[in-house]
Amino acid sequence: MPPPHAPSGSLFMVVAPSGAGKSTLVNALLAQEPAIKLSISFTTRAPRPAEQHGREYYFTSADDFQERNSRGEFLESAEVHGNYYGTSRLLITEQMQAGTDVLLEIDWQGAQQVKKQFPHAVGIFILPPSIAALEERLKKRGQDEPQVITRRILAAGGEIAHAPEFEYVIINQEFAVALSELTAIVNATRCRFAQQAARNASLFAQLGIHANLS
Ligand code: GDP
Ligand code: ADP
Ligand code: 5GP
Repeated sequence: MPPPHAPSGSLFMVVAPSGAGKSTLVNALLAQEPAIKLSISFTTRAPRPAEQHGREYYFTSADDFQERNSRGEFLESAEVHGNYYGTSRLLITEQMQAGTDVLLEIDWQGAQQVKKQFPHAVGIFILPPSIAALEERLKKRGQDEPQVITRRILAAGGEIAHAPEFEYVIINQEFAVALSELTAIVNATRCRFAQQAARNASLFAQLGIHANLS
């Protein structure tokens, strides 16, 4: 167990306009890095044909969502494209206290809320190579109704306007390149002094490194 003042696991937030390839990139990262826990959000959106309750999301009603929200169950929550989404506070704090790296796939509004509570959270914004590519990917994915796709394309510009708030930006043109950049960000974060000191407390003590971690 790290001492209580030491930072525990790292918290990654991956944000992108719909269709940029966020979930595909994150799933490929997690296949390589099974130690990272993906936070499964609650949502009032209806499941897509290929989605499963408890795998992509916990699908729920607007009433249940509001009740959970008023009980303070969400670390962050936001309305995105006409649906509500929220991150479970309990799941995240438990994992991080256990020293596990956690990844959130959330929107920019949620990222702002999380950053206020966890200033060391690492924000990664995924950009598409163009708006035309975004539209083509959403159509090709074949999981959303045409009017849903239109709504998401129209929202993309406003979401992309928040990219400057993020520490890292990845352009998902060539998938393999984007994945290697995401992997590099994860590896660099794990080498931050505070993370290394928390993971290797006895080595750091043996080597006489007594940093004042906050
Ligand atoms: P996608 O954009 O095609 O991946 O479609 P989704 O319906 O899965 O996600 C819609 C939006 O909601 C995306 O911007 C997600 O990042 C965001 N989102 C998903 N889960 C959460 C969450 O727990 N909190 C917040 N704030 N946003 C979320
Ligand atoms: P998001 O989670 O950001 O909405 P997805 O991960 O579902 O996006 O990706 C949207 C679609 O684009 C998927 O069908 C996916 O296979 C495809 N895709 C992802 N990355 C690329 C890429 N670099 N080039 C072409 N298509 C991609
Ligand atoms: P989708 O409906 O396509 O799965 O997601 C739409 C948007 O909602 C995406 O931008 C996604 O990142 C965001 N989103 C998903 N889960 C959450 C969440 O728990 N909180 C917030 N704030 N946004 C979320």
